[in-house]
Amino acid sequence: MSGNPGSSKDRGRESSQATSRPESIPSSRQTTPPTPMLTLAVSPLVTAGNGQGLGAFASQRIKAGEVIIEEKPLLTADVTLWSDDTSPRSIVDAFADMWPDRQEYYLNRYTYVADERKLLDYATAYTAAANVELPTKQEKLKIGKVFAIFYNTAASFGNFDSGFGKDLPRLNHSCVPNAAHIFDETRKRSVVRAIRDIPAGQEILLSYVPEIAPKNVRALKLEPYGFTCTCLACGENDYANRTEARRKELWKLQSQIDTLEFSEGSEHEEAVVDTEAPSLEDIPDMLALMVKLMKGEPAMQVARGETAYKLGKQCSQMQELALAKKWLEFALPLLTLCRGENDSLTKDCVRMLGKLPASRHGL
Ligand SMILES: [Zn+2]
Repeated sequence: MSGNPGSSKDRGRESSQATSRPESIPSSRQTTPPTPMLTLAVSPLVTAGNGQGLGAFASQRIKAGEVIIEEKPLLTADVTLWSDDTSPRSIVDAFADMWPDRQEYYLNRYTYVADERKLLDYATAYTAAANVELPTKQEKLKIGKVFAIFYNTAASFGNFDSGFGKDLPRLNHSCVPNAAHIFDETRKRSVVRAIRDIPAGQEILLSYVPEIAPKNVRALKLEPYGFTCTCLACGENDYANRTEARRKELWKLQSQIDTLEFSEGSEHEEAVVDTEAPSLEDIPDMLALMVKLMKGEPAMQVARGETAYKLGKQCSQMQELALAKKWLEFALPLLTLCRGENDSLTKDCVRMLGKLPASRHGL
C-alpha cells in the first residue's frame, strides 16, 4: 500500500546549478496493485492509441457517492512555469520521482506530442530557466515531452497543479461515465467517486471531456488522446440521438454564459454564438434551463450539481433568497454525492444555506 514513489530529500538540497537526470533514478521498483475496489483487465473500449488496452473494473458493487480512488498524484507541479527557475525544475524532479512504469505510461499516453521542434523548444526553455545541461538530443526530447504532456494535462488537475496518479491513469473514457474525478485543491489529492451505482465487473469510466459537449466537440477534444470513442452516446441509437439534442442545447447555453461572463478565452469559444444576444440578467434563467435539461442525464450529475450551486449563489447575490435556498438545497445532495462533503464547493453550499433565513419570503 506504499503509494509514495520515493524520497526526494536529496534532490531538495541540490543547488540550482545541478543537473537533473531522470535516467539516474532507481529502476527496480515494483508496481503496487490498484486499490482493492478495482481489478485491471482488458477493456473493450481501448482499441488503439495508448497501447495499454487495460481498464479498471469494479471488483465489488460500488454505491453512488462512494470513493473509488483517492491518491496524491505522482506528478504535481506549479503551472506558473517560467516565472522563476524553480518551477521547471519541480516538474522534472517530480517526473524523476515517478516509478519507472509510470514514467513510461506518462510518456506514452500522449503519443500526439510528436512535433520534435516544439519538444526541443521546451527543452531549451527548461535548460535556460533551470540552468542545467542536457547533453544529448534524446534527453532533450524526453524532457521536452515531459513538459509538453504537463502543459496538455494541467487543466484537468485544478488551476495550479498538474497531477498524474497511480490508479487514476487506469481509468478509461466514456461520454456516459459512471464516475467523476475531482481534484481536491486543499488536500492536493485526486478523488474519483461513483456517480451512480456500479455493479461488480463493470468498468469504471470517466469523461475526459466536458460531459455536456455535443458529439463533434467531444471528438475534437478526444483527438489528442488518440482514440475514437465508441460509447453509447457516440453510437447510432435512440439514446445517442436524444442526448445529442440535449447536449447541443446545453453546450450553446454554456457558451452563451461563458461569452457573457468572460469577454475572451472561453473554453467554449468554438461553439456558435447566437445572434439573439442574451444579456447578463438572463444568466439565471439560462442556468435553470441547463439544470432542467440535465435531468434526463445520469452521467451529468456533477455538472448538474455545480450548475445548480452557481445558480443558487447568483440568486443569493441578487437577494432572491427563497430561490437561492431552493437551488442550493437542490445542489447540495448532488455536490455531496459527486464531490464529497469535505469539498470546497459543497462546504460553501452548506455555508450559504446556513446564512439564509429559514422562513420563506421573496417569492
Ligand atoms: Zn463517447
